Amino acid sequence: MIVSLNPHREPDASSVIGEYDYDHPVFGAGAAEAQARLPALQGLRRTWYCGAWTRYGFHEDGLASAVDVAQRFGISAPWVAAGAGTSLKKAA
Ligand SMILES: Cc1cc2nc3c(=O)[nH]c(=O)nc-3n(C[C@H](O)[C@H](O)[C@H](O)COP(=O)(O)OP(=O)(O)OC[C@H]3O[C@@H](n4cnc5c(N)ncnc54)[C@H](O)[C@@H]3O)c2cc1C
Repeated sequence: MIVSLNPHREPDASSVIGEYDYDHPVFGAGAAEAQARLPALQGLRRTWYCGAWTRYGFHEDGLASAVDVAQRFGISAPWVAAGAGTSLKKAA
């Protein structure tokens, strides 16, 4: 399956499975409050959270947040220097 975003040339209509309108995520005060609470929630009831929403909402934020959680399980991404800290504060 191929996702076409703002194509210069429309794909053949017979090949289109679906069309959807998206808006770029917008972070408001509620998001900032949720992000501030996240460090205290990580790991509670064996539940860990990651996703672009934990930071600024971009692709790299989703990846970085997953790396943060993986490090807490003792798994380091091969491109992360050994012993490097995570960017998330540890829960008290
Ligand atoms: C129009 C648009 C343009 C963008 N452009 C850029 C860009 O140019 N550059 C950039 O870096 N980022 C861009 N982004 C942001 C980028 O898409 C996100 O950073 C990225 O997709 C987020 O990845 P994620 O895995 O955190 O979340 P998502 O990709 O949203 O994945 C979350 C998944 O969880 C699933 N889910 C949700 N609730 C539940 C539930 N209760 N149970 C089970 N599953 C659930 C959803 O179905 C989804 O599959 C754009 C976003 C949009 C909408």
